[in-house]
Amino acid sequence: MNRSILHIDQNCFFASVEMLNHPELREVPMAVGGDADKRHGIILAKNQKASAFGVKTAEALWQAREKCPSLVIVPGHYEQYEYYSRLLFELYCTYTDRVEPYGLDECWLDLTGTKYGSDPVATANEIREKVQHLYGLTCSIGVSFNKSIAKLGSDYKKPDATTYIPESELKRMVWPLPVETLLFVGRSTQRKLNRINIKTIGDLARMSFPYIEDYLGRNGIKLWQCANGIDPTPVQRYNVKRDMKSVGNSTTTARDMLNEQDVWYTIVALSDQVATRLRRYQRRAQTIQIWVRDTSLDHYEKQRRLISPTDSADDIAKTAMSLFKESYDWSKPIRSLGVRGTQLIDETTPDQLSIFDMVPHRDKSNIDRVFDTLRLQFGDQIIKKAVQLQCDSKLIENGQTRDTPGGFSALNGIERKSRHKIHSETAAIE
Ligand SMILES: [Mg+2]
Repeated sequence: MNRSILHIDQNCFFASVEMLNHPELREVPMAVGGDADKRHGIILAKNQKASAFGVKTAEALWQAREKCPSLVIVPGHYEQYEYYSRLLFELYCTYTDRVEPYGLDECWLDLTGTKYGSDPVATANEIREKVQHLYGLTCSIGVSFNKSIAKLGSDYKKPDATTYIPESELKRMVWPLPVETLLFVGRSTQRKLNRINIKTIGDLARMSFPYIEDYLGRNGIKLWQCANGIDPTPVQRYNVKRDMKSVGNSTTTARDMLNEQDVWYTIVALSDQVATRLRRYQRRAQTIQIWVRDTSLDHYEKQRRLISPTDSADDIAKTAMSLFKESYDWSKPIRSLGVRGTQLIDETTPDQLSIFDMVPHRDKSNIDRVFDTLRLQFGDQIIKKAVQLQCDSKLIENGQTRDTPGGFSALNGIERKSRHKIHSETAAIE
């Protein structure tokens, strides 16, 4: 059967997200830099104004500055990129369940057998429009009959374009391309191929198969087949759980937290959100972490491994609070707090009941599930813990935290300087 495969590649993804959050960056040559303070930092992404100066991805920051002295370099905000990445994957999943991510900003879609499969080009155009309209981002899409050729298609024309490569156009459109544009041709394979005068994909395709197999080994077989349009690799089903390593929420409260009561209100609200998301993803956390930032913006984190894994808001809140009490000396008020569950396991993994647990875990979890059902039907405000009702509305409005996306970036060793307006749930993908 003829397959309908899309490869979607976001254009300048990190830089585009930064420009969404800081529109003023659209007006200047700008790049996202890794380790901006260190001399060995590199360019991770750049906008088109920076490209016009010849700034390239992966080059050293000092090289980029030499080409473009006015270049504005901003640090990366990975939780923002993950947030948008997940929104995009969720959009793609409305077309097919076969959505295979390739990093945060690329993925394949298999439309074969779906109602979109008969006109994949129209579908690709529709997806581009939606991505632009819903999120203000642009992408390039390759449409073809297998994964490796679709990937070449998304590189063919950028930004914001669809390129269709049918099987009948393989020789005309693909064979003239440099051999290193093919997926899995790394620097050393490229050198090896160039050494025997293979410069284009067509050169490789026309070589005798046994010769390439002998020359490059196993990798050679795959490459020769791809060059000849043979790539039966399936597009994997999207599974949000597969890559999820942790679930965390953090907030900067409306006024600073001044005492343990304030902290407890905040922890209860955050734990409730974390637990709800764990249950939604059918996961349990084996370790609970807190992240605390005071008014001088000093921050630290603490974590504890639980005796039995949990998805209960109550367990998470109590653990977080005890971590807090053990670690904070109240020399200053607190500005931001985060709670995160890590070392996630599938909820079906049998757990050992702890003899220290007064209420069996399942009962607590059942109470939480009633919360989930009510909220699903009537909205988040329908039910609250009593403690959330007592909470000072100047601290947390309606007992709900306002999320600080990236509040937890400290846990990933990334310093965060700005706060963004969007509501974000952080799910670390490692
Ligand atoms: Mg990209």
